[in-house]
Amino acid sequence: MSSQRPRSRIGKVPRQQPDPPSDDFQVMAGFTNAVPLPDGSYEKPTANGASGHTRQPSRTPTGLGAEPLNIVILGASFAGLACAHHFLDHTITNLHKTPTAPRYRLVIVSPSTHMYWNIGAPRAPVASDLIKHDDAFIPIEPGFHRHRGHQFTLIQGSCTALSTETRTVTLELIGHQAQKRCSQLIKRASSAPDPSAVTPDAKVQILPYHALILATGSAAHSDLLSLHGPHYNTVGALNAFHARVSAAKRLVVCGGGPSGIETAGQLATFLNYTGRWPFRKRVKVPKQIILFTGSARCLPGLKGEVGRKAEAQLKGLGVDVRHNVRVAEVRGGFDLTGQTEVVLSDGTSVVADLYLGCTGVEPNSGFVPARLRDGKWYVRSHSGTMRVDLAGERVYAVGDVAAYSRNCVGDVYGAVPVVMQNLLNDLLGYEVRLTSPYGGNREAIEGLEDEVYVQRRVDSMLCPVTRFGGVGSWKDRVTPKPFVYLLKGHDYRVCKKNLVAVNGTSPYGS
Ligand SMILES: Cc1cc2nc3c(=O)[nH]c(=O)nc-3n(C[C@H](O)[C@H](O)[C@H](O)COP(=O)(O)OP(=O)(O)OC[C@H]3O[C@@H](n4cnc5c(N)ncnc54)[C@H](O)[C@@H]3O)c2cc1C
Repeated sequence: MSSQRPRSRIGKVPRQQPDPPSDDFQVMAGFTNAVPLPDGSYEKPTANGASGHTRQPSRTPTGLGAEPLNIVILGASFAGLACAHHFLDHTITNLHKTPTAPRYRLVIVSPSTHMYWNIGAPRAPVASDLIKHDDAFIPIEPGFHRHRGHQFTLIQGSCTALSTETRTVTLELIGHQAQKRCSQLIKRASSAPDPSAVTPDAKVQILPYHALILATGSAAHSDLLSLHGPHYNTVGALNAFHARVSAAKRLVVCGGGPSGIETAGQLATFLNYTGRWPFRKRVKVPKQIILFTGSARCLPGLKGEVGRKAEAQLKGLGVDVRHNVRVAEVRGGFDLTGQTEVVLSDGTSVVADLYLGCTGVEPNSGFVPARLRDGKWYVRSHSGTMRVDLAGERVYAVGDVAAYSRNCVGDVYGAVPVVMQNLLNDLLGYEVRLTSPYGGNREAIEGLEDEVYVQRRVDSMLCPVTRFGGVGSWKDRVTPKPFVYLLKGHDYRVCKKNLVAVNGTSPYGS
């Protein structure tokens, strides 16, 4: 007889294969063998005998058993982050109102892992210690840690095509992690993928959407003033500018709008003056800073008084302001010295050691079908409901990319609650229709009232120019200099970055 006692299993876990590590934020692994319909939804269960056929056991699970539907947000800056946080904080908890309601998965797509605090972009090029990279580039992912427990995924990539017919977006993915995250989504959505949706290149994936929010914003002409792809492109452009600025003798800024005025003012304030107030004094060999406004005065979009004050402050700093001259051509590296030749609309040209073009922005809408864009390439969304009606159901546009926007953050945060309420209504309407595919529940659907956006018509714009001052208009009133400093100029509101990245709220308060 063996005296050996059975080994205790207390404290030991039976050996088993570990689960493969999940690389996304999803906490509920959906599983189905269902093939999604082109609109991202699933085949509805057939009614018993309704079409004369005997009822077949449906292969398509509904409710909690079904694959989640993708709510896709393109862009992760002011508008995209506000919508994403709102969805995970409020929208998702107000869904699932019917027994057959689907589950949802939020997918956020952005070519950059960081958002750029372009509010501070006019000061950032001057020197690396004025607006530090850590403040100017805010990582997106940590802002979502508080949403662990919800089903969402961040994908680094650019949308290159939008098909409103198949209700899919084509994504050009950046890096292995993005490929892994995206392929997990697509694998889960279908065990037998549609051959037309399979691309030969793993970096390019086609993702179906149930709802889509276009928040791809705009890009400035200069690499320094906005993101152009991943954030390290902008970091590189700023570093290159910083490396050359101290040796530069002549700097040319072009653009008479807020960015041009602010940039010229910031360069003059911090490069041509030293010391602390009240002992601030002009340096012995100041740099020549020339500003071409292209119009008859500074800040043509604001009251004349604001423009006149801006010009007086710039001239007080020694900036050479020249009106009615536009830049016709910029020839970078035209000789071996690395200088830039700026060819002007009056036929003359000027050679600059550094050139900064503040000549406006263009919407990031190249992937949007032409019939959904207006003449200036902004997305033609309904200015009240924010829906892109021509794109089919549950497609919205918000922020700089949308035609309603005047390209300021005020127009983002005013519209986000409207977009999100209408998205919630549309998703609830879909849930209700799922419960009664043959009609009915009209009252429930009609009770979902649209939210309508009413744009504020008052002008609010702040342009820090000098060390402690600047010009601006706040709710249609000309702002005194100290207010410009307090409201914006002292730190370009970088202290509010967590409001934007973690809470999804406005850097200017409500
Ligand atoms: C120099 C400068 C200074 C400014 N200062 C102020 C100010 O002081 N006050 C103010 O109110 N406004 C200011 N603005 C305007 C303000 O920055 C914009 O209104 C705001 O950034 C708009 O936010 P958005 O989220 O709509 O777009 P954006 O901030 O432009 O963000 C767009 C997002 O979409 C992503 N994206 C781009 N293309 C794609 C694609 N194909 N697929 C997926 N994602 C994509 C980008 O990576 C980014 O995440 C300034 C703008 C500039 C350029």
